[in-house]
Formats: sequence, C-alpha cells, structure tokens
Amino acid sequence: MDLTVLGSGSAMPVPDRAQAGYLLEDGGRSLLVDCGEGVLHRLSDTDPGYEGVSTVLLTHHHLDHVATLLPLVKARWLAGEEHLEVVGPSGTKALVDGLLGVHEYLDGRIDLGIREVSASRSFAAAGFDVAARETRHSMDGLAYRFAPPSADLDPADGPLTLSGDTEAFAGMASFADGSDLLVHDCSFPDGTDVSNHPTPTSLGESLAGVDVDRLLLSHLYPHTGGREREMARSVREAGFDGTVEVASDGLRVDVPTRS
Ligand SMILES: [Zn+2]
Ligand SMILES: [Zn+2]
Repeated sequence: MDLTVLGSGSAMPVPDRAQAGYLLEDGGRSLLVDCGEGVLHRLSDTDPGYEGVSTVLLTHHHLDHVATLLPLVKARWLAGEEHLEVVGPSGTKALVDGLLGVHEYLDGRIDLGIREVSASRSFAAAGFDVAARETRHSMDGLAYRFAPPSADLDPADGPLTLSGDTEAFAGMASFADGSDLLVHDCSFPDGTDVSNHPTPTSLGESLAGVDVDRLLLSHLYPHTGGREREMARSVREAGFDGTVEVASDGLRVDVPTRS
C-alpha cells in the first residue's frame, strides 16, 4: 500500500504545502482522503490523476479538507468520468447538498454517491478496509485506520493510520497502536498557545510507549516553517520512540504490512 502526501498544509497557505489531502494506492485501487485547496493540482500529477480517483473519504468538513470537492466533481465530469463517491462523517450529505445548492449547474453531471460512516463499525472505501474513531477537534470528525484491499486483515489492525485534525490524546494513540505508519496532525510548534491541535510535545507524550514504527507530522501551519527538525526532536524527547519525519507535499511512502 502506498501513501502519497498531496497536501501537508493547513488553513493558512504557504507556497510549498497544499491543504490537507492524501492518496492511497494498492493494486490499482486509489482512494483520496480529504481534498483541501491545492490538492486537485497535486492529484493531477499522480499516476491515477483525478480521472482515476472515484472515491473520496473525508475526515471532517472544515474548508481546508473539502475545498476542492466540487472542483473534483467538475474535473471528472469534464474528463468524461461518470461517477464519484463521497464518504465521510455525519453531515457529509448535507455538506454536498449545500455545495450543489450553490453550484446548481453541477448537480446531476455525474453520478454522485454519498455515504456517511461512523466509528461504530468498519467499512470499505475504494476496496480499502477502514476502521474509524472520533477525533478531538473544534468540529466532529473521524480518524481512520486502513488495511489494504484483499489483505484479509481487520482494519483496526491495519498498517496505516491517519489522524485527521485532532488534539493528541490516549484514545487516538491506542487507535494507532501497532501501525507501521501514523500520519498525525502536528499543526504548531511548541510554545504555541493552541487547542484542537497538538504541539510536538503533547503528541510525543501521548505516543509514549505506543508501537508505531514511523510517524509523519502533517497539517502544518506557517508557524512550523524552519522549525521542522526541532519539532521532530521534541516528539521523540517527549516519549515517542519510533522514527519521526515532517511531511512534505509529494512524499510517497510504501507502507509495509506486518506479517
Ligand atoms: Zn484542517
Ligand atoms: Zn479541522
């Protein structure tokens, strides 16, 4: 299973980071997770492109995670693609209906499926098996853990976890425990007065003793510019003992599955 970081940024733009977006690929299957501003351009530079992505999974409905939802619909329509499924937490149907209410000319152009999911049961999206849990953020949302298609693996034991936007807390750490790769919100450097997002120290403390091989810090605000190495070091010093990296747009990670 391959993960490509399409957008490692946040709601405050910087030139080299698009807003939130990730592409999962495995055996010809492609799943887009979140689609903030800039993500569609990054997606056009991947093998599947927007033509090859027919399922979008949303972590929550903040603008920096959904801004290119309708641009994706329009791009697929213009490219002759006939459908798109949008999967997300409660409220996803109302969101899409509202967007189409503003941009009526897009309504009915492609076959648009909407599916709302919750943490209470795992589900499939674009062939990937997915487990979910609630985040702690200024808006309700879901973190996801993934098992590759046909892996015959409970997604709660899957190799990849994406936190979405969330504070660091023990429940999220245990949700990710055993992952090969955890991509976690680390919006701000230490010393920032922030709620609803972690700092490196709070994230490292929450992950102390948790079995995660590789941690990718993402959802980076401009405040993190030039402080990336310090942030990775702070996470380790606070107690996380796996590998820590700071995400960048275009980074592609081959996520192994433990046997
Ligand atoms: Zn966000
Ligand atoms: Zn958010």
